[in-house]
Amino acid sequence: MFIPLSSPDISNLEKKHVRDVLDSGILSSGPKQKQFEDLICRYTGMKYAVAMNSGTSALHVAVKALGLKTGDEVITTPYSFIASSNCLVYEGIKPVFVDIDGYTLNLDTTLIENKLSDRTKAILPVHIFGQTCDMDAVLTIADKYKLFVIEDACEALGASWGKDKAGTIGNVGVYAFYPNKQITTGEGGVLVTNSEQIFQYALSIRNQGRAENNDELAHMYIGYNYRMSELQAAVGVGQMERLPVILSKREQAAHRYLTLIKDYKLPVQVPFVHPISSISWFVFIVILPEGMNRAKIIMSLQENGIQTKPYFPVIHLQECYRELFGFRKGDFPVSEEMALRTLAIPFHSNITLLEQQYVIRHLSNALEEAAC
Ligand SMILES: *Cc1c(COP(=O)(O)O)cnc(C)c1O
Repeated sequence: MFIPLSSPDISNLEKKHVRDVLDSGILSSGPKQKQFEDLICRYTGMKYAVAMNSGTSALHVAVKALGLKTGDEVITTPYSFIASSNCLVYEGIKPVFVDIDGYTLNLDTTLIENKLSDRTKAILPVHIFGQTCDMDAVLTIADKYKLFVIEDACEALGASWGKDKAGTIGNVGVYAFYPNKQITTGEGGVLVTNSEQIFQYALSIRNQGRAENNDELAHMYIGYNYRMSELQAAVGVGQMERLPVILSKREQAAHRYLTLIKDYKLPVQVPFVHPISSISWFVFIVILPEGMNRAKIIMSLQENGIQTKPYFPVIHLQECYRELFGFRKGDFPVSEEMALRTLAIPFHSNITLLEQQYVIRHLSNALEEAAC
């Protein structure tokens, strides 16, 4: 038995859209990209969507579109995938980390105000593992101090905060489509906004900074090639058409895990869902008891064909961040502790009950062995 950590959910619909693109002869900047962006707008209720070649690219464009620049500071979380703060470092912006809350694993918003300076220009919350950060608190602080809000919703398509969808609450939101996300385009990302100005800038900068009249050889900005291909967009169109089904399968799989974990009385903590937020299941994380030998558990599961991943490691202790900013162990204790205790177990929309039982049975054994 081999149970992968994640697996994309691709149907004949996506294959048909890809075949249509191949037959059409238009492989980039064509109608599928537009259709994909329209589907994103319709689903999120946002006015504008700009598809790009990765979530990281879309975050980078979001940062530039807001005019953030060298010397500015942005409040963000150290407990995330590194792209959420790399997009700041690209522009010489200092990521000012704020520790997380140990239950939701999102930014502890009560700590933000202490970290503000006259260089702070924005807050960049990450909706970690598909759970929306406390956006009421983020918006209150942003309004009070006139800060922009960039939502890294790369793990949170389908999540919400109250009646608002994650990614639609700040000035700009970004979703990503790497194969382990809720939906995939192979590689890809999309920026959403209600600002016409940000929209126009993003359109231009993803395409070498071309002028608005789309003159192929007139350039207003130093832009990038952050374009999404029609093949990627075709996969995305099929995935968006099936989004409700995919999200509901993930929700059911997550609840099967929650039930199994209870039945087996596993001594692990499961995601605490904030009462105002609804989670869109990106991965399934268990939080191991304090001091438990995680490496041993990973090994033992691996021997039984079960893939797991110890994530996320904290960003501030990565070699490159220590060197650039002088971060040290102990700077963000909750994030550091959670980084040592969180473990992602196999999770995707087509995981079966039998596979989940197998995972939980072996996890239960591994936990007992590690406790001795
Ligand atoms: C996936 C992800 C991204 C974007 O990743 P890409 O691989 O560039 O699409 C950004 N932030 C977070 C938190 C992510 O999980």
